[in-house]
Amino acid sequence: MDGFVPNQDAWKTVRDLKRLFGARLGYCKACPFRAECIAVVKPSQAMFDGIAGGRLWCNGLVIDALDDVSDDELAEPKLRPSCGTEAGAKSHSRNDERICPSCRQAAREMDARRQAEKPKQQEQLQLDFAGTT
Ligand code: SF4
Ligand SMILES: [Zn+2]
Repeated sequence: MDGFVPNQDAWKTVRDLKRLFGARLGYCKACPFRAECIAVVKPSQAMFDGIAGGRLWCNGLVIDALDDVSDDELAEPKLRPSCGTEAGAKSHSRNDERICPSCRQAAREMDARRQAEKPKQQEQLQLDFAGTT
């Protein structure tokens, strides 16, 4: 997003990054999605420069942070070939990991589909039952 990732020509040192972006950390103060933000951006794995999850990052390392950040927010989800499917979500749960955003979305969609199917299945059961009497 504009203002959260620096133009590579605009900075050279950690001090430049802090000067340019430190004040913008305030945007993350009230944001309820810090953990999700880190899960999506994956700053360590991506060697990210910029603001994500209430922290200012340089080359994937935290160089500044809001006062109230918690280490729990830092767990980056492990990604697998099955990510983005319900099976991927189950793999995360089996391995006691944070579920990645695409698996969470897939699990939500499957739940919604099952909920939508329920009335149809009940209707079919009633029709089957009526047919036997
Ligand atoms: S935590 Fe992430 S999504 Fe929330 S304001 Fe900060 S950069 Fe934006
Ligand atoms: Zn996943």
